[in-house]
Amino acid sequence: MNSTKYPLFLLILLTLFGPGGCADRADAPAGDGLLVSVRPLALVAREVAGPEITVRALAGNTDPHHYAPGVADRAALERALLVVWLGPQMEGALARQLAQLPEERQLQLLAQGGYEFGGAAPADLHVWLRPRNAAVIAAQVAQRLAVLQPAHADSFKRRARDFSRRMANLQKVLDRALWGYRDVPIVVTHDAYGHFFGPAGVETLALSDADAGGHGARALLELRQQLDASGSSEGCLFGEVPPNARDRQTAASLGLHYAALDPLGVMLPADASYEDLVLSLLEQARACLAQVPDTPQPDDAPTD
Ligand SMILES: [Zn+2]
Repeated sequence: MNSTKYPLFLLILLTLFGPGGCADRADAPAGDGLLVSVRPLALVAREVAGPEITVRALAGNTDPHHYAPGVADRAALERALLVVWLGPQMEGALARQLAQLPEERQLQLLAQGGYEFGGAAPADLHVWLRPRNAAVIAAQVAQRLAVLQPAHADSFKRRARDFSRRMANLQKVLDRALWGYRDVPIVVTHDAYGHFFGPAGVETLALSDADAGGHGARALLELRQQLDASGSSEGCLFGEVPPNARDRQTAASLGLHYAALDPLGVMLPADASYEDLVLSLLEQARACLAQVPDTPQPDDAPTD
């Protein structure tokens, strides 16, 4: 269509009421801004929300699988523009509280779908540890914020697109860096890392954490047999921060090197970004993997 033939009044109407116009739509009050269940998701949401909306993580250093909001957080949930969380599959205690919050004021990320699971077990719902899934999360947050604050819809969507491009690059950086370690046996104390290691073809064996008091001798023996069967003598055990004697002992009894990972970014500085979270995890992982001798160097990785 030739735009010079557009009647002028139509152009004016389009300008006033077209996408991005705000004359006819009011923003919802920002209230306490975005409340997000865990810090990694808050880091992603912050990329989209921009300077206009505050973003706060709820769980802090608490185990997010068991986080239940206290009195102050319950009051904040009532006032929030939007509550972003994974869903009852991951955050059962929070689910009881959020059952009372109207649906339009909460975004259950896992219920939205659209995540990549290649290389990760279907039951591993720690989707944020895969940069390409972080891009999916950002798009979902942008979509909901656009409904709540239509005057800023274009900004939310533009930021989500920019973030998505950066995540495509970050995913390549991560996969190339890990690809060279795909034959190194890796044991994890928490079955949470399929989305981090999996896309590069690096498999993880999870210790059963059914018995909280310590990993059973039988489980360790079975794991050792699996490691022996794989033909690789040396590998890594990844626990979680802070580094501790129990995980170190477990690693020693399996004959593995040991390092602690920080999947929630609790050790990161206050102004850290989502990229910082992924790159610091990579650094923590490589600190251990680099100790395994005869590891092929990652520069023979695929270049796609
Ligand atoms: Zn977990």
